[in-house]
Amino acid sequence: HVQITDLEFSYGKASNAVVQNFNLHMNEGEIVSILGESGSGKSTILRLIAGLETPSQGKIGVGKDTYVDDQSGKILPVEKRGLGMVFQDYALFPHMTVGANILYGLNKWKGPARRARLQEMLELINMTEYRKRYPHELSGGQQQRIALARALAPQPPLLLLDEPFSNLDAHLKHRIRDELRETIKYTGTTTIFVTHDQEDAKVLSDRVVLVDKGEVKKTGTPYELLKETTVPQGIGGAQA
Ligand code: ATP
Ligand code: MG
Repeated sequence: HVQITDLEFSYGKASNAVVQNFNLHMNEGEIVSILGESGSGKSTILRLIAGLETPSQGKIGVGKDTYVDDQSGKILPVEKRGLGMVFQDYALFPHMTVGANILYGLNKWKGPARRARLQEMLELINMTEYRKRYPHELSGGQQQRIALARALAPQPPLLLLDEPFSNLDAHLKHRIRDELRETIKYTGTTTIFVTHDQEDAKVLSDRVVLVDKGEVKKTGTPYELLKETTVPQGIGGAQA
């Protein structure tokens, strides 16, 4: 479902590649974590997939669509990719209600289907009674749930999550993390989850990709990587 081949990118001089030889192939419905230290290129990889940056080399395809092909020079613009994105800092539009935030992602949906989809998403995250509230009237965790609902509402071919828990305390994070996995699995959404937190990567994903200097260093199931580290067994999510 996702085919990323030999991706290469630098912000300035080509010799300072931030992403290099990056390959990732994903099945439909799979959740893959990209795990790496600060500055390792994780956000840049998401920006390349989303179309906010253009790689100097490589191919990106999602479903039947070719996003980038360095052979033919094809580049699909951001808006035609229609991806769902949740980034850490600007999760919601502060001047819009919860309902308006979710409807924003549904601009291509017409008539009663649009309202019905909003209702369905609010039910999915158990927040029907919050439709008319503004983001500042919600807790951090509730805001994250709305951000996720907005990203999932249009049924994107791929969901990109960049450190979506960064504003949450540990207790809330654990709850949201489980909920998030359930929601993603329930909707069958193919998802790339970027984090520098090993435990988050292992709990949330079917497969973990370790990156360093924009390159894949290791890849495996959470279970395979669990054997090498100290995180307690039994929390790997692959079999859930
Ligand atoms: P973090 O975990 O801190 O979010 P990251 O893995 O997401 O880090 P990136 O944001 O992808 O890392 O950055 C990768 C490298 O590219 C870093 O060295 C960073 O300084 C550099 N970089 C990021 N954005 C830009 C930019 N707009 N212009 C120039 N260099 C950039
Ligand atoms: Mg980042």
